[in-house]
Amino acid sequence: MQVTKTVEETRALVKAWKREGKTVGLVPTMGYLHEGHASLIKKCREENDIVVVSVFVNPTQFGPNEDLEAYPRDFQRDSALCESLGADLIFHPEPEDMYVNPCAYVSIDTLSENLCGKTRPIHFKGVCTVVSKLFHIVAPDRAYFGQKDAQQLAIIKKMVQDLNFDIQIVGCPIIREADGLAKSSRNTYLNPEERRAALCLSRAVKKGQEIIAKGIDSETVLKEMRAVIETEPLAKIDYVSVVDALTMQDVEKVDRDVLVAMAVYIGKTRLIDNFSYEV
Ligand code: AMP
Repeated sequence: MQVTKTVEETRALVKAWKREGKTVGLVPTMGYLHEGHASLIKKCREENDIVVVSVFVNPTQFGPNEDLEAYPRDFQRDSALCESLGADLIFHPEPEDMYVNPCAYVSIDTLSENLCGKTRPIHFKGVCTVVSKLFHIVAPDRAYFGQKDAQQLAIIKKMVQDLNFDIQIVGCPIIREADGLAKSSRNTYLNPEERRAALCLSRAVKKGQEIIAKGIDSETVLKEMRAVIETEPLAKIDYVSVVDALTMQDVEKVDRDVLVAMAVYIGKTRLIDNFSYEV
């Protein structure tokens, strides 16, 4: 497995692989890898000749008062995991390798305005910009994203369609801890009491899955899910919403494929979870 830092060395390696006729898969990450990331890397390994993992804590997707500095990092551990999963290359740039007085950004309307976009107004512009850059640098045949960040996945699919990236986007299911908590690098912020309280998210997901049905009012689903979260004193709801699976706009009735998504603060840590429902 190789590790590159600059755009130039990454491009040179990928071009050489492509000249040999090899297919390339990309798994974009911010590092501090866990089994959620590992599931993406494994799927990428199954479907491509070459597996590229990017490890980059992207500053442009963090707001001014968010956790850019505190975001957990452990490149040695990440590198060992990628190697054990058979990755061929980790692209691990520094912010200055990626951004030199940038003026050009990629943003996406509508889909980025609801859900996480309300509390994190610049987040998806940063995500779309860095993912576009990674797509241009690595030029993969396929790229792998988790359903854990369902709004991000919908946005990337739409961006690829609208901007004609010749890349297949592969969505991968949410990987959870044994007790139900969705795996996240941010779970490391939780103290033991918060870790227990954080289970209200997956409990609310379970409740939502039990009661949702074709034609039901969204408000009925949301009321029951909110009630589950509100039993937990350490939890503060940012949003719980039922949205159209493609447009990310609120829907009143479950009369089409929907995403039921939530963001909840547990203490100072903001966690997300979701489930999809197809009619
Ligand atoms: P991150 O490092 O948090 O930016 O995540 C990198 C990729 O891993 C994104 O596509 C995430 O959706 C995906 N991912 C993170 N956590 C999970 C999880 N628990 N299950 C599946 N995919 C995940």
